[in-house]
Order: sequence, then C-alpha cells, then structure tokens
Amino acid sequence: MDRYLRQRTVEDGKSFDQAWAETSILLVGLGGVGTPLAQILTRSGIGQLTLVDGDRVHDTDLHRQLLYDDKDVISGIPKAEAAYKFLSQIGGRTSLRSYAGMLTPRNALELFEGHDFVIDATDHIAARSLIQETSLQSAIGWFHSAAIADRWIAASFTPPGSPCYHCWVAPELNEVSIGTCETVGVLPATCMAAASAVFRLLTMTLQSPLDFGGTDPRHPENSSRRILRGSLAEGERWVELFADPNCPTCSSSALEKSVDMASGHQREAGYPMRRLCGSGSLEVWIDKDIDTIQQHLISNSPLEKWRKTPFSLRIEDPAGAITCYRDGRALITGDLAKEPTTAKKKLAQILDF
Ligand SMILES: [Zn+2]
Repeated sequence: MDRYLRQRTVEDGKSFDQAWAETSILLVGLGGVGTPLAQILTRSGIGQLTLVDGDRVHDTDLHRQLLYDDKDVISGIPKAEAAYKFLSQIGGRTSLRSYAGMLTPRNALELFEGHDFVIDATDHIAARSLIQETSLQSAIGWFHSAAIADRWIAASFTPPGSPCYHCWVAPELNEVSIGTCETVGVLPATCMAAASAVFRLLTMTLQSPLDFGGTDPRHPENSSRRILRGSLAEGERWVELFADPNCPTCSSSALEKSVDMASGHQREAGYPMRRLCGSGSLEVWIDKDIDTIQQHLISNSPLEKWRKTPFSLRIEDPAGAITCYRDGRALITGDLAKEPTTAKKKLAQILDF
C-alpha cells in the first residue's frame, strides 16, 4: 500500500503530493512549534527537511516538544540530533539532514541554499530578523510562527519582499518587551495551534500560491499579506498585513520614477524596480507568468540555468540570480542587483519576448 495515498486521494491531490515531494524545507528551531512541524512534514513526505537548532533538550521542554524523552535530557544530546534520530525511524521518502548549531549571520546564506522555503520556529526576534534579511538576500521565502502563553501567529513571507516581518515587528523590539515562553510560559495547545497554522500556510502555498496576495487599498502600489492570528479563547482569524512606508528593511528607495506601479505596467521601456533597504536586493515587477517564462526559456534560451518550483522560477547568473514569483514580482539578488542598469539588461535578455 502506498504510504501517501490518502493525501493523493483528495481533489487535485496528485499534483499537490508531487509538489510536496519536490519541496525542500529548512526548519529553524526545534522547540514547541518546530517539533510537531518536523514530525508532520516528515510523515507527509516533504521532499527534504533540514533541521537546525543549537540547543540541548531540557526537562522543561518535554511537556510540549514532541520528539524528545527523558533519556535525551539525561544524555544532553543536541535537539537537532535527537530530532533527527526520532524522525529517521518514521521512514518514508523525506530526505533528512540536521545541523546542531545556531543560525548565525556567518552560516545563514549557506544554510538557506538549496531550500525552497524556510520555516521560523524560533523564539527570538534576532533570529527572525536574520531570517528576514537572509530571505531578501537569497530570494527564498519564509514562514514565521510564534507561540506564547495562549496566543499564536503564523505568517507567510513567500515571496520575499514587501510587506516584510519588520513592517510589523520593529527590529529594535526585544524579547523582554514582548515576553517569551520563559517569562510568560506557553501552553502545549498554543504550540500545536501555531504549528498547525504554519502547516496550513505551507499547504495553501503549494496548492494555490496566489491565495495570500492582496493589495493595500490605501496604497495600491503596495501588496499586502494575509496572516493568521489566534488565541485559545477566541480561535483563529485572518489579519491583513500592510507594508510600512518607513520600514527599515523593505521600504523602497525609488529607482524607477517613470513607471506606474499602481497599474503594474510600465509607461516607458524598462522594468519597475526598487531597492529593498535591508538587503541590497532589487524588487522588480515583471508582470509575466512564470509558466510562460519557462516555456520561453526552453525554446529560446537553452543556455540559461534555471530551476522551477510550483511557486517560483529561479534563473541563475554567474553574478547572482533572478527569482520570479507567481504574483508577478521578481527579486534580483547577488552582485547582479548592485547596478540597476546591468540588472535591467539581464531582465530584458530573458523577459523581452
Ligand atoms: Zn518591511
């Protein structure tokens, strides 16, 4: 009997299951939210799962963290190793890797590489800021989750860009001002709800990548995101997140004044683009469907190196990459983003057809 039969049997389940099997996730944080996520990602046969955590298993973790037991506390085994051991026994098609260390500015880009999405299951704003920054540098989208006391939140920053995490949580905020599970505690039900909310966002992303998209009615040139917020007493609801025009990370330094951002079309030749402050990456409105671009690359540019997922199309260049998303945006990263004229030339070479 096929292990994944039940998820293939739902409507459009076959294509979903295939996309799931081809998806690679970097999971940062193996605590109350990360462990249930790691377990269900492995059971449901996500293609590849990389586990990152720099901590060891503590006695106070066991009431909510699913992959550990008393022996792990006594032996002082790193969480990444204990989780890897547990998950390996599930079997199935998921390729597992683990990294027993913290995500740091030194290793973040390298750890992100090769993954389709990053899931933040950490409980530190500094780690989230780093994930946000690395996401804009690498064009790899991320999902944010948080669980505290009886409340939780889950947000999708895929595609990366605006609005970003810092449009909502200022980088200078710290754990003391908002509390952590150490100071105000956390209930197991809250962790499960946060894990479930992120799992829902990931599932929706692979089913229909445009479902979260929207525009800010006050500033139609800005996109918005729908995020999930919940509490045990009130349940879960969608909340709209809008771009902060003064955001220290994603606010624009307008590069292209001659374009009409609101309509999404360019008035003059060239591509509407702006630089995202925190990362140096360029956000571009390409307004072309990624399936059409793929077809064009296959028949007209056989030498371009590219990779397509259900969600994005990444064109590699020796100097960087152009990652195009289904919502009509693209992110130009690496050295290619340094000089807008060079970036525009490369865009024209690929997209003018
Ligand atoms: Zn922002």
